[in-house]
Formats: sequence, structure tokens, C-alpha cells
Amino acid sequence: MKLTGRRVIADLQELRRLTSDERGGAQRVAWGPVWRQARAWFSKKLHDEVGLSTHVDAAANLWSTFKGSGRGPALVIGSHLDSVPSGGWLDGALGVVVGLEVFRRAKANGTPVDIHVVDWADEEGARFGRSLTGSAASAGSLDPRKELAHLVDRQGVKLPDALAENGVQLNRMLGAHTYFKSLKAGAYLELHIEQGPVLEELRKPVGVVLGTMGVERHSLRFIGQAAHSGAAPLHLRKDAFLAAAEFALATRAISIKYSGKTPKSRVVATCGVVKVEPNFVTAVPGSTEISIDMRALDAKVLAKMLREAKAAAQQAAKRHQVKLEWNHLWDINPRLFDETLMGFVRASIKEVTGGATELPSGPLHDAAEMQPLVPTAMVFAQSSPGISHTRIEDTPKAALDISIKSFLLTVDKTLAHLAR
Ligand SMILES: [Zn+2]
Repeated sequence: MKLTGRRVIADLQELRRLTSDERGGAQRVAWGPVWRQARAWFSKKLHDEVGLSTHVDAAANLWSTFKGSGRGPALVIGSHLDSVPSGGWLDGALGVVVGLEVFRRAKANGTPVDIHVVDWADEEGARFGRSLTGSAASAGSLDPRKELAHLVDRQGVKLPDALAENGVQLNRMLGAHTYFKSLKAGAYLELHIEQGPVLEELRKPVGVVLGTMGVERHSLRFIGQAAHSGAAPLHLRKDAFLAAAEFALATRAISIKYSGKTPKSRVVATCGVVKVEPNFVTAVPGSTEISIDMRALDAKVLAKMLREAKAAAQQAAKRHQVKLEWNHLWDINPRLFDETLMGFVRASIKEVTGGATELPSGPLHDAAEMQPLVPTAMVFAQSSPGISHTRIEDTPKAALDISIKSFLLTVDKTLAHLAR
């Protein structure tokens, strides 16, 4: 069967027409009707074109299997059909829909080992705030009682009720882990759009993903003294905002210090939340909450960044005579991808384009949940414009075609490797 991205792109355009509304953008928010419609569409495609059925596991992950002719560990290919509200047409969908093309090729050419395609449930966490839900359940890293039982959406719907609407029982979700282990997977591959501007800036259509960055997420509160903006002399102030502002600038300096010139060695730090109190124009800020999200592919570098950020916060607090509270929100270690599989990705991209660019992923993906269990690799398609989670998210057709071809070649090499 001819190597082409044409059919996958046509399928994605069909899905886009089916699941966008008049507001524009994909409306495939997990656990809702449009998401279920997208899954029904995909299941019908699998049935009509390759004669396969689908089934859901205990965490609502949607699975389909093409049986191999020989022995060897299985290949799992996955991503997510769910989207953020008014999201893009490619985020997640690309990596699931390409699975149909893998099956078409398996039907035409055969496959030595089993191939499983999975649409992970609720990757985005758009409605309840917990992302990677389905893949974490499969990986056995999810604690449904602790992490999901209390979650409520903006309309006041409880997550356990939304799950029940979709046939999922909270206390049985880890059955997905038992199912995953029964597959005896030997490799996990995911094709995804980059969602950032790195490949676009380098004018590369496709890239080898080295792993997902580790994340350190914390919330700080500087506590000073609110005072009258006219009456309080500068040297007697305890201005909590100025301490927070100095901290924010320090984290930028830290991220610049630890960023190398190559995409591989880039790190990031972001202060996304700043809440000033009492928050009016004639008040010296008495208290300021500020968040920090730091990411790096190298765990040692990330640990140094965190240490230096803590020291910078203490210095800023001291300089402005304010107190500091530091609260840990969340962290994950870097998830480095498998050398052998990355070698297949590199070789495939070279075959298609002549060279292979490497970059880490700043965003997390389902692949990050798979990495501790099974050798894992990802292929990134260029995003242009280099943004995502918006309806203007896009990838030029030529880059999409090249990325799909590179991924399909990676699948061929991985299958040959698993069959040995
Ligand atoms: Zn995604």
C-alpha cells in the first residue's frame, strides 16, 4: 500500500466537519455528546473500512485490535479524540485517526504482531481539571478515589456522575490497568502536533520527540502589610507585590541561565497567576499570591532551577520585609523516550525529509503515562501557527503529509523489531 497521508487528512477533515459547531473549533469535550459522536464515527470507520470492532475498558478508553500473524509483543498506538472547548482539529485526533491508516496498511500488507489502537479518555481534563485520566488509569498511576471523586464541573455536575453517564464506575476504573497488562505491549507510539512554535521557527515539518519535560508547579504567597498609598513612606512599606514581582523576574533569569541554544536544552518558567490584595489603586499590596510552573527535560537541571527559585523568593521577601509561604501544587519527573524507538523515528524522518530535528515536549501527553510501563516514542508534526487549544490551531497540509508518512514508517520499523 502506497505511503501517503492523504486518507488520514481526509478523515480528519471529515471529523472536523462533524464535531465543530457555529462557534468554530472542535467541541469534543470528554464525557459529552459530541465526544461520544466522534467515537461512534471512529468506531464505524474501523468497522466499515477494516472490519474491526471496538470496545471500551473500565476507564472508557476506546480500543481496537488487529491480530498479528506471528508471535511477539504487541504495538500500541494512541492519542485522544477529546478536545478543549472550541479547540483545534488536530490536537489528539491526528494520533488516533492515523491508527485507522495503520490498520488499512495492516489489512493490505499484514502485520507480524498484534496492533492495538487506543483513543484515551479525557486527555485534556477540560471539564473537570484532571488531564490524562484514561491513560493514567491504564498505567495504574491514577488513584480515582483521591483524584477524581471530589471533582465538579462549572455547572455543578460531579465527575462520578459524568462517568456513570458514560458507563464508568469510579471504583472499577483501575480495571483498565489489568486490561493494559493483558495486552503484553512491547512498544507505544504516538503522533501529535507540536502545539508550539519550535519546528515552525526551524522550518521543519516534523520532529523526533526526546521525552516530556519534568514539571515543578508551586504557589507562593508573600504576606506584607496593606497601607495607604499616600501615607506610607517607601522605607516603611511591606509591599507584597514588589516581592512577587522580583520573584517573577528572578525566575525568568533562572530560565534564561539554564536554557541552552538548542531546542533540546531549552527550559521554561512561567508565573501564570498573580493575585494582589487588597487590589485597589490607592493601597500598598498587603498580600500577593503568585504561581510558578517550571519545566525541563533534564531532572538535575529542573532540581537546580527549583532550588534557585526558592532562594530568590526568600531574598525578595527579605528585601521587602514580607513573609513567604511556599505551597507545592504538583510535580512530575521528566519522561525520556526509548532510545531504540527514537532511533526508528529518527531513521523514518530522515527517509522522508533527509534530516531529523530533535526536541522535547513541554506539554504532557498520554505517552508520558505510558513511558514507565512500555518503551515509548512520539513524532511531532509542525504546528503553524505555533499555537494550540484554539480553533486557529493548524498544520500545513504538506507538513501533515510528511509527519504521517514518517509515523507510518516508524510503525513498520517497530513492527519488524517486535517480531524478532
Ligand atoms: Zn493533545
